[in-house]
Amino acid sequence: MRALSVTILLLFTASTVAADTYIIYGTVKYPNNTVVQYEEIEVQCEPHAYDCTKFSGEGGMSDFAGGYRIELPIEDQDEGVSIQLVVRGETFEHQITLHDEIQDGSDYYAMLNISLEQEPPISPISTGLLCGTLFFILVFANVLVRTGRQLMTPEGRQRFQGRSPMPITTCPTCNGKIRRHLLVRHLIVEHGIPVDKAGAMAGLQFSDERKDLDT
Ligand SMILES: [Zn+2]
Repeated sequence: MRALSVTILLLFTASTVAADTYIIYGTVKYPNNTVVQYEEIEVQCEPHAYDCTKFSGEGGMSDFAGGYRIELPIEDQDEGVSIQLVVRGETFEHQITLHDEIQDGSDYYAMLNISLEQEPPISPISTGLLCGTLFFILVFANVLVRTGRQLMTPEGRQRFQGRSPMPITTCPTCNGKIRRHLLVRHLIVEHGIPVDKAGAMAGLQFSDERKDLDT
């Protein structure tokens, strides 16, 4: 009977103790005021801080907006215990105070905004994004420049508008204007030039014209 009452007493005590929660919350930021996203906040203890050890290993993670929340099961005797919050290798002291904090039922709320000393890292995602953007800009600029250069010639303008350039060329023999695809025939028929030589002459004429266009 005595053993039973002790058990009941223990159970009762245990349940009231477990009901108290100490909630540390706040925002984690870098010196430039940007928030620290998705970073772990871990509770650690100073060496030989035995009253702290039961909280060691507790922690939480900052969210998208840098907000975090750590819930610690607490008893009255934890008043004044010093714990450390570790974020990205930096340590922040916090002393548990049960009397000054806002109490809501059996929950205690302690606000602790954390400001890191380190500069924000350049995340691989944003580096990749930057590279991709730069590459895209370069390609776009290149296309723009080439298009611009092309638009400076009448032939290029026509090509840009989706029309093929006027296939007009100059006959290297009589200097007459003639459609390109007819030049070889013209050379053979009008000037009596052999077929193979006519082809070569036409090719030379076209490449000369292309050189003129490029300069
Ligand atoms: Zn001719």
